[in-house]
Amino acid sequence: MTTYDYDLFTIGAGSGGVRASRIAAQYGAKVAVAEEYRVGGTCVIRGCVPKKLFVYASHFHEEFEDAEAFGWSVPAPSFSWTTLIANKDKEIDRLNGIYIRNLEKAGVEIIQDRAILKDAHTVHLVNEGRDITAKYILIATGGWPFMDTSIPGHEFAISSNEAFHLEDLPKRIMVYGGGYIAVEFAGIFHGLGVETRLIYRGEEILRGFDDDLREGVHAEIAKKGITVHTQTTIQSIDKSGDAYAVTLSTGDIVETDLVMFATGRKAYTDGLGLENAGVEVDRSGAVKVDSYSQSSVENIYAVGDVTNRVNLTPVAIREGQAFAETVFNNNPIKVDHDMIPSAVFSQPELGTCGLTETEARAAYSNIDIYKTSFRALKHTLTGRDEKTLMKLIVDGDTDKVLGVHLMGPASGEMIQLAGVAMKMGATKAQFDQTVAVHPTSSEELVTLREAWQG
Ligand code: NDP
Repeated sequence: MTTYDYDLFTIGAGSGGVRASRIAAQYGAKVAVAEEYRVGGTCVIRGCVPKKLFVYASHFHEEFEDAEAFGWSVPAPSFSWTTLIANKDKEIDRLNGIYIRNLEKAGVEIIQDRAILKDAHTVHLVNEGRDITAKYILIATGGWPFMDTSIPGHEFAISSNEAFHLEDLPKRIMVYGGGYIAVEFAGIFHGLGVETRLIYRGEEILRGFDDDLREGVHAEIAKKGITVHTQTTIQSIDKSGDAYAVTLSTGDIVETDLVMFATGRKAYTDGLGLENAGVEVDRSGAVKVDSYSQSSVENIYAVGDVTNRVNLTPVAIREGQAFAETVFNNNPIKVDHDMIPSAVFSQPELGTCGLTETEARAAYSNIDIYKTSFRALKHTLTGRDEKTLMKLIVDGDTDKVLGVHLMGPASGEMIQLAGVAMKMGATKAQFDQTVAVHPTSSEELVTLREAWQG
């Protein structure tokens, strides 16, 4: 019988890889995980967590302004980017330490190196220059920002990776893209006092989200002062003294101090040696897997963003857990990718679960829409002209709630619980039977009586 150095070798210590390695080790497997950067992966090190800390920082700008309406007088506030970065780094170091300790406690060996596949059972450690064999290999290398290198001057642009480590906050920024990262960072920079432009190639930002939320966020961020250019692309970036001159497809040349590309992420498989082992990838470079996360090679699995299924941290964690259960606990589990609640930490925030109105109308013949838009109680005093929006999409035949879409403060918190009800197959009547929590914004979700007549 062939013997291997390890039962499992995981490449990538992010959310999916760490969970899979830890659980496999707890089931008695001998496990090693290779990580070329920092244990914790994108979410912890340069994604969700530091991003959310930045979002908190950027909210204070409006909080100080709003405080006056409630009787507070606030001396002119000032902001220190250096302090924010230092505090953020301290917290990320702490989390990184916890991830390392949890792996070690479970008996997982951490190898700080880049690992590439040599064949179906062998990985090569690039810096150490040695080979390791394993019965199973898990690819959990995540994603990497896509930077369009055909744009002249693209090398001047940063991605979200660098945004977490800027030495100074620019006075002006141009964010390119209209997805999650672009909209979240535009809000962060604007809230921190940076003159912000968002450049998006399509008709409306946040493609894939419900149209009411897309238009709603666009209107709100524009009201706050972010300049949004739709149906516009960046043609070139030229250095102009200490700044950059960006030529847009409209012919305009706009000066800015920093350009950030947020034009999507690609599976991080380049140079991983997948072809040496015969692992198939799709056209975007993502590892092709079945519903058990098994690749085209029997003993090689992949979880998380590298498979480009639903690119969210909690999904990667579930995929990692399901892989470990399937392979090391004889308990085959498929991850259910249906009805996944998620949030966008734009300003205002979004929470969404289930089908958009467009998707629902395409899939069902009888759709009822319930929606409301209002000014939250807090802003009756502040006078701030910011709308909260709530929308339920209901199957008119079965009364089942197919989609919930929220825009406004704490939408991310709300959608988690709406997601529980939706996962249980809740009907509109059951939403209505639930007594409202007053005074909250979320009470609107259970008091929407009249179907919207569009
Ligand atoms: P998205 O796919 O959300 O957005 C990419 C944006 O870039 C789109 O607006 C897209 O336009 C545009 N784009 C793509 N290619 C080009 C190009 N060649 N030229 C110009 N524009 C282009 O990716 P993100 O990078 O924002 O986020 C990556 C993933 O990370 C998300 O899918 C999400 O799953 C995850 N994420 C989740 C967060 C959360 O849960 N809150 C936060 C941040 C990220 P178009 O619409 O026309 O395709």
